[in-house]
Amino acid sequence: MALSYRRARQLGVGLLLGIILVSSGGSVIVLRGVASGLKEYRQDMGYKHDRYSDIAFNLKSFEADFQRCRREREFDPAEIDRDHFPAIRNLLAELRDSPLSQSDRDTVDKLCREERRIRTLLYAFAASIDYIKDDNGRMIQRQIDQAIADSINRSVECSRTSRAAAQAAGEKMIAVATRTSWTLIIGGVVTIIAGIVISVLLTRTLTRGVVAIKQATDELAGGNLRYRINSPFSDEVGMVCHGVDQMADRLEQVERQAVVTAEKRQRANNELGRRARELEAARRATLNMVDDLERSRAAAETANEAKSQFLANMSHEIRTPMNGIIGMSGLLMETELNNEQYEFAQIVRACGNQLLMLVNDILDFSKIEAGKMELETLDFDLSAAMEEITDVVAGRADGKNLRFSCVMDPDVPPLLRGDPGRLRQILINLANNAVKFTEQGEVAVRASLHSENDTHATVRFSVSDTGIGIEPDRLDTLFHSFSQVDASTTRKYGGTGLGLAICKQLVDLMGGQIGLESQPDLGSTFWFIVSMEKQPAESSSDVAGIHPADNATGVCVSPDSLRDLRVLIAEDNTVNRVLALRLVQNQLGCNADAVANGAEALEALERIPYDVIFMDCQMPVMDGYEATQAIRDPNSSVLNHDVTIIAMTAHAMKGDREKCLEVGMDDYVAKPVGPESLSDAIRRNMEKAQETNSPHTAGLDV
Ligand code: ADP
Repeated sequence: MALSYRRARQLGVGLLLGIILVSSGGSVIVLRGVASGLKEYRQDMGYKHDRYSDIAFNLKSFEADFQRCRREREFDPAEIDRDHFPAIRNLLAELRDSPLSQSDRDTVDKLCREERRIRTLLYAFAASIDYIKDDNGRMIQRQIDQAIADSINRSVECSRTSRAAAQAAGEKMIAVATRTSWTLIIGGVVTIIAGIVISVLLTRTLTRGVVAIKQATDELAGGNLRYRINSPFSDEVGMVCHGVDQMADRLEQVERQAVVTAEKRQRANNELGRRARELEAARRATLNMVDDLERSRAAAETANEAKSQFLANMSHEIRTPMNGIIGMSGLLMETELNNEQYEFAQIVRACGNQLLMLVNDILDFSKIEAGKMELETLDFDLSAAMEEITDVVAGRADGKNLRFSCVMDPDVPPLLRGDPGRLRQILINLANNAVKFTEQGEVAVRASLHSENDTHATVRFSVSDTGIGIEPDRLDTLFHSFSQVDASTTRKYGGTGLGLAICKQLVDLMGGQIGLESQPDLGSTFWFIVSMEKQPAESSSDVAGIHPADNATGVCVSPDSLRDLRVLIAEDNTVNRVLALRLVQNQLGCNADAVANGAEALEALERIPYDVIFMDCQMPVMDGYEATQAIRDPNSSVLNHDVTIIAMTAHAMKGDREKCLEVGMDDYVAKPVGPESLSDAIRRNMEKAQETNSPHTAGLDV
């Protein structure tokens, strides 16, 4: 039977209460029955029986006395009345006062009446005792006897009735007690059975709930989260079962969520794995690409290095004969020549210079391409630089009957900081182009102030011509490398197409802008704007004093002062050796010797304390670098360790100058050399020695 714990408990409690009520009721009834029986016993048996017996006894005693008095004829009714009837009256009075049933009351009333009648008859008999023999006496006597007998009988009967009633009350009490005992026994048995049943029911109910919960927890622990107790009860055990079911619901929900989450995670992991594989593949591809790029970069670097090396070699190899061609043609022009011979020599020298410009352009371009072009920052005089441009370009313009002007606006600050060499290069390039592409009219170079502040001046340079001009659709490409307007231009005017590209790169390096305006057949204006630092006021006078233009005038060093110098030329190339020797001896007027390599130079220096050495760098046996280090070595046997050493080399690439200075040389001139470059170099170093009072130039007359 499926019974809820609560219902079973309610049932049990109800049963117990019922049993207790029944038992209590039974007990009350029994106790009342017993009490009533006891009361009746006390009234009927213990009391009435005694009184009735006493009455009967007194009546019998009176009867005996009456019989005796009648026989003896000594009869005093008062004495008899006094001896017997007060006791009877007292007994009757007690009975009447006691709680009596109606029948007892009637009996007592009858006994009272009979007692009065007997006494009345007694007095009547006493009065007629003398007439005992008469009929009245006999009748009274019979009446008395009859009354006595009735009373005695009645008392005896009452006594017997009382005893019977007492017996009946006792039996009734026993019956009630027996019933009560049975009731109690049955109640006890029923209570025990009910207790057992209730305890069994409760135990079963509890056990069933606990078993259900245990099974549920086992199932849940075993992973069967769908298991439910589904208890139909809502009692405490049922609530626990519902709680377990709710917990299972929650667990199942959590498990579902966990499954969903796990599936999502799995999907995410799969996706991640796929992405990781893709990434790995991409990484490998990138690594391969990086390897390829690295190889390409290394190859490019190697190729670049090879190109740089090739350019350096080419530069060296071209400059060496160029040095001979230009130098020797110059020397040739110094000799006795007829006009035709002089013209030929001049052409040779012009061609050489042109070729040299071409080589310089190519070298500049390759330097820019390799990112090795670096600008200098020097104090310079812009007006002097403009004059130099006039010097270089005016002759050409004049040769084509063009008007040429080169002006600097007065508001342009002349003393600036920058790279004057590269600035000149740009302007000369543009001006040369202007002359080249103009057949009539004029070429004008101008420097004007674009803007200015306390520290910097931004200058606009322009080169205008009245030449052939340029078609508008070609304007954009002109500053690209190797870009020329068209093939016919190239055929007619020649050129490499590098000049403007180099100009643009240099202007870019200076942080400026370059551009042009042009109209075909009307002319062009090329311009560029660069910002340059202004020289501080206090240093301006000094800087102006050391400007190359000033140096060229020989303000500080007289040309005659070079005559006493002892100059050694170390040069392996015979032509260049002879050229340098002639230049130094014939053009500069110095005492000069020449040797073919560094070792021979050291030997010469051990014998003669030369003032200046023009040292070629690349020589057989011992190169110029090694020879310089040996000369500067205090342990070497040369006479003058501080001799001025000027590199005279065809190594004109970036870093070559620094390399020479690093090993201990004092200055550097790049081939091809001329009398100006050699004398400038000597003068520069003489002035430097003058400033520092260097001991190794102490012999120079400055
Ligand atoms: P190159 O002059 O050696 O060919 P540039 O780079 O200096 O190389 O010039 C590139 C081209 O620009 C020239 O070939 C020419 O067609 C054009 N160009 C340059 N300057 C002028 C000018 N002043 N007038 C007309 N065309 C010019």
